[in-house]
Amino acid sequence: MSTKKPSDTTFVHASQLDPQLSAVVPPIYRATTYHQTNPWAPSSFDYARSGNPTREALETAMATIEGGVRGFAFASGMAALTATFLLLSAGDHLLVTRDCQGGTQRVLRGVFSRFNIAVTYVDTDQVEDLDRAIEPNTRAILVENFSNPFLHVAHVPAIVDWAHRHQLSVWIDNTFVTPYLQNPLTMGADLVLHSGTKMIGGHSDVTAGLAVARTQELAQQLYFIQNACGPILSPDDSYLVHRGLRTLPVRMRQASQTAMALALALTSHPAVSQVFYPGLPSHPGHAVANETMATDKGFGQMVTFRLKDVASVPRLAERLHFARIGAGLGGAETIVSLPELHCHAALTQEERNERQITSDVVRVSVGLEDPTDVVAEFLNALQN
Ligand code: PLP
Repeated sequence: MSTKKPSDTTFVHASQLDPQLSAVVPPIYRATTYHQTNPWAPSSFDYARSGNPTREALETAMATIEGGVRGFAFASGMAALTATFLLLSAGDHLLVTRDCQGGTQRVLRGVFSRFNIAVTYVDTDQVEDLDRAIEPNTRAILVENFSNPFLHVAHVPAIVDWAHRHQLSVWIDNTFVTPYLQNPLTMGADLVLHSGTKMIGGHSDVTAGLAVARTQELAQQLYFIQNACGPILSPDDSYLVHRGLRTLPVRMRQASQTAMALALALTSHPAVSQVFYPGLPSHPGHAVANETMATDKGFGQMVTFRLKDVASVPRLAERLHFARIGAGLGGAETIVSLPELHCHAALTQEERNERQITSDVVRVSVGLEDPTDVVAEFLNALQN
């Protein structure tokens, strides 16, 4: 099985020329319907929910980059995850990374539990422990890689091997890793998912979700759900996400270098008790990242840390000059999230306690500012 990663060239040229005029970027087709000269044998597009050329251009580029048979663009990352959960039936059981983003846990607890879908949260960086969680009705495992907010690293080939031995489907939410560092489908995973709102969109100006299937059978099932339920990405937003996809490698390379510099600076800072960054040799997932990802290109743009004194969190927030504070990640600007208030606010207090998401945790999406400025921004803000 080939595990070759796409080159930067693929990100630019996975997009085909516009078939009408050879325009180098896809035209935006807003039409919702198409004149059928022969209604008994309509041409490829007939109605916008079922198919749209601007959306299809993005979906095709994603499938090429991820090495799958078909891509799907959804209205948000949550819409992509919801469509994926709809592959299950009442009475099924699902395994999910314990350290997952708040929205995944919220939709499973608040919506899918009502349809009798049971969930067990597992540590997907500990493949050897997964046997204990399996039930006779387990159908799939959803792996969030890197996990959120503590950036655990899953060994995708080992998970695929384990899951396929138990006839489970493997779904990887690779939002944080991005196709720049890893293509899980080339390692045998069945479905790869992304919040396109994040690194792929890349500019904090579009909400989107993406999925790519490895097999025709799964692609057909997912297409049925996309068309039947309708959570599609609009043509304008498809255009924006497609534009972001073409520049993902340069943005990831720059942000990863800065993230590494920030992680190193935080590691030796007296106010910081713990730094979570897969690029640090001390990170428990460092070796797995090196083995399964193109880490010669970097380790991603997310850095999480814990402060020794919870009282220094508001001080840090107050002293930041250019870093933005709030939910979200993957944009050009550095964004600081306090998981308790932002990305994991959807969890109950009990769920947050269980996962050690306490008030001293800070998550940084490192942006494209000058690396020296980013490091200085945090060192200044953490000064006593
Ligand atoms: N998956 C991951 C890993 C995320 O971080 C998020 C959002 O933060 C989502 C999915 C959901 O994406 P969206 O906000 O685009 O619905």
